[in-house]
Amino acid sequence: MRELIDILREQRHLDSSGYKALLECDDEGVVTYLHEQAREVGDEVFGKGIFVRGLVELTNVCRNDCLYCGIRKSNTAVERYVLTTEQVLQSCQQGYGLGFRTFVLQGGELPRDKAPWLIELVAAIRHYYPDCAITLSLGEWPREVYAALRKAGADRYLLRHESHNAEHYARLHPAEMSLDNRLQCLAWLKELGYQVGTGIMVGSPWQSLNHIVEDIEFIEGFKPEMIGIGPFVPQHDTPLGKCATGSADLTCRLYSIFRLMFPSALIPSTTALNTIAADGRTMGIMAGANVVMPNLSPTAVRANYTLYDGKAISNAEAAEGIAQLNKQLATIGYHINWGRGDFNQRIINS
Ligand code: SAM
Repeated sequence: MRELIDILREQRHLDSSGYKALLECDDEGVVTYLHEQAREVGDEVFGKGIFVRGLVELTNVCRNDCLYCGIRKSNTAVERYVLTTEQVLQSCQQGYGLGFRTFVLQGGELPRDKAPWLIELVAAIRHYYPDCAITLSLGEWPREVYAALRKAGADRYLLRHESHNAEHYARLHPAEMSLDNRLQCLAWLKELGYQVGTGIMVGSPWQSLNHIVEDIEFIEGFKPEMIGIGPFVPQHDTPLGKCATGSADLTCRLYSIFRLMFPSALIPSTTALNTIAADGRTMGIMAGANVVMPNLSPTAVRANYTLYDGKAISNAEAAEGIAQLNKQLATIGYHINWGRGDFNQRIINS
């Protein structure tokens, strides 16, 4: 098994049976070796710096109805909000003061007629913060909207493909949504010159290890700049609210596999991982993740961005908790890197 890990490190590729073997291996020593190799590779590229991104949860209004998501449109138990332009700019101002140089606007998928407002919002952030990266995670839009957002100043876009198996994708989403459209959106984002992130939830209902292998192979071919992987966590007001929580161990194995496959990729240690495991953030970093995304949203709305139950929203998870985050990173020999941390697969691979 260690040989497989050495091959992955050297060749940045395994065949599907190799990936599956790493996912199902029950030898703790091998898993530790996988994480160590990944961390070594990450350290060679990034040193001991961990990038921070200020997360602004723009809205919990959503036109989609993903079966797993707490802010799906059918969930009537959610108190809906959309931040105003002023609130977003205030969050950025607070974040800039703390040292953040990347802002991530994430949210539910607003009605299509809100596109002009989103474009103006991105232009305003670009105007006030010319030295900052703007990352969007706002779901599926027509190509022209992605193009206008890019022109307005957005640099990066996160859109998890969620599952590359069409049947599995269809079980997690309503009939109006399709894997084809999601993949089309990802292709447009790349064409438009965004640094693109994609990924999956680990342990989403009906997901098998073979599905995860399909996801690994899709990501390998797609070559994203960012890879977003977090465990599925049930939300009690959704149709999947009684399903089992995803595995922290498997999530961390995937961080390691992707770090070995893409040494320079930006891989967040996700809030979902930190929600299901007390030391989730540091576990993720020790497995090869190199980004954390503290929450910059106004405190009044944080409790309403309820994607899943028990979401970690305070202390080192919050932008105000930077000192605590730094302390936590120091315990494992890492520190915050305040840089923008830009990266483009096309440059690296050319
Ligand atoms: N609407 C945009 C989209 O779908 O890309 C961005 C917001 S969406 C809430 C962000 C991510 O949250 C999704 O890609 C999904 O993987 C994750 N998410 C939603 N529900 C979740 C759950 N129950 N457990 C873990 N992650 C979840």
